Amino acid sequence: MTDLATHLTKLGTHIARFRDTGILNLINGKDVSGDDWFETRSPVDDSLIARVALGTAADIDHAARAAEAAFPAWAALEGSKRKAILHRIADLIEERAEEIALCECWDTGQAWRFMAKAALRGAENFRFFADLAPGARDGQSLPTATHWNVTSRHPIGPVGVITPWNTPFMLSTWKIAPALASGCTVVHKPAELSPLTARLLAEICRDAGLPPGVLNLVNGMGEGAGRALTEHPAIKAIAFVGESRTGSMIMKQGADTLKRVHFELGGKNPVIVFEDADLDRAVDAVIFMIYSLNGERCTSSSRLLVQKSIAEAFHARLVDRVNRISVGHPLDPATEIGPLIDAGHFAKVSGYVQTGLAEGAVLETGGDRVGQAGQFLRPVLFTGANAGMKIAQEEVFGPFLTSITFDDEDDALRLANGVAYGLAGYVWTADLARALRFSNRLEAGMVWVNSENVRHLPTPFGGTKASGIGRDGGDWSFDFYMETKNVALALGTHAIQRLGV
Ligand code: NAD
Repeated sequence: MTDLATHLTKLGTHIARFRDTGILNLINGKDVSGDDWFETRSPVDDSLIARVALGTAADIDHAARAAEAAFPAWAALEGSKRKAILHRIADLIEERAEEIALCECWDTGQAWRFMAKAALRGAENFRFFADLAPGARDGQSLPTATHWNVTSRHPIGPVGVITPWNTPFMLSTWKIAPALASGCTVVHKPAELSPLTARLLAEICRDAGLPPGVLNLVNGMGEGAGRALTEHPAIKAIAFVGESRTGSMIMKQGADTLKRVHFELGGKNPVIVFEDADLDRAVDAVIFMIYSLNGERCTSSSRLLVQKSIAEAFHARLVDRVNRISVGHPLDPATEIGPLIDAGHFAKVSGYVQTGLAEGAVLETGGDRVGQAGQFLRPVLFTGANAGMKIAQEEVFGPFLTSITFDDEDDALRLANGVAYGLAGYVWTADLARALRFSNRLEAGMVWVNSENVRHLPTPFGGTKASGIGRDGGDWSFDFYMETKNVALALGTHAIQRLGV
């Protein structure tokens, strides 16, 4: 197994070039710097990784115009040719997967053991949508006695993709691959806290032969470059992943230009454990779904709802396991939880520890800082919570689990649905009729029964309530990036109504 020292040496080689040049924007196939810069720092030790070109409204305009100019040719390219280019992008992601994962760990604090797979998932996303590209325009034939209706789909135009700081590479590929497969051109504004791998993706796309202007990268702040992108008249749609309140702002910003929006927002996802569940598997899944990826994960199961009859024993097993989770350097293959993304987020998550204590919940374990430097936090488990507490209602977005007990199915459902969010839910029971009954009534876009979150790319991904608008995955992605047109061809048999005779 590659060790920490080897990882650090390799990382140093990969990021050395950014220390000299900074992380530049990439617009119309060319590197573009600006007048101003911001910094990206590693949450491991707060050291400077690189300065980053601070994109302005003028840079967004440049990128949007480039995307607009590149659109007709890219949209007209045969699907099989788009497919070939997207597969080349996937090839290059695979070739550079180690570099991507190392950079992502260093920029975000996510542990190597998960990031190595996340980089490869990026390639898989490109391959999946590459294979669908030739059929993306296909429609339906809907004949009547008098007309033959045929539908077809057409790429909507240049689109904006705005991504968050958690697992940024994988999430960017999840948005950008279907946009390119459908024939759209893209302006990508990655999160200011983790811009490193968005630059690698833009370079890979260029090197794979994506024509200039088809994918443009503009770094910057939400209120600057982000806002300008959502307001730009040449941009027809915004695919956004981030916080619910940012989604609300983007909706307002995009109103004047009637932007189509697709939002993947926050969550406070319940995992419901009934007394008849396979408790060995349920313990594993509960732990995995809140503490992997530092808990900085939209589908994390941050609320445990556990049946009263088994709660004490289940909590004891959880505490034992949480205490054995290794917190450490993200590039150490043994590490399970790395540092949180930055000092501000550390303060937010540890602030919720104080909130939970003040609200009267029981802090079973965790919540203290690990080490002197960096943003390392011991994973947190609260029990004895009730539904009204902030720690049971608000998205913490860290390795922070709040447990509430329930009496019966109705009680569990009331608790599960009693939050503003509705992204994912996880149900653990041996009673399959109950599993289906419960899943059917759960307010969530995605439910897993007796499973952790396992993605099958053709299935729909997305949330209800404050967790989002729209769905990704398979054909659902094309519905967002494309317009559907109906052409009705008269068969010449019907009498046309006459006026003015
Ligand atoms: P955020 O909303 O603060 O930022 C996300 C992106 O939006 C960044 O690129 C930011 O610069 C940009 N932005 C901010 N203000 C903007 C504005 N006014 N106009 C345009 N762009 C603007 O989110 P974050 O803190 O980076 O990410 C964490 C959040 O993302 C969590 O709430 C998490 O649940 C959510 N998330 C959801 C999913 C999902 O699939 N539902 C997936 C991952 C993350």
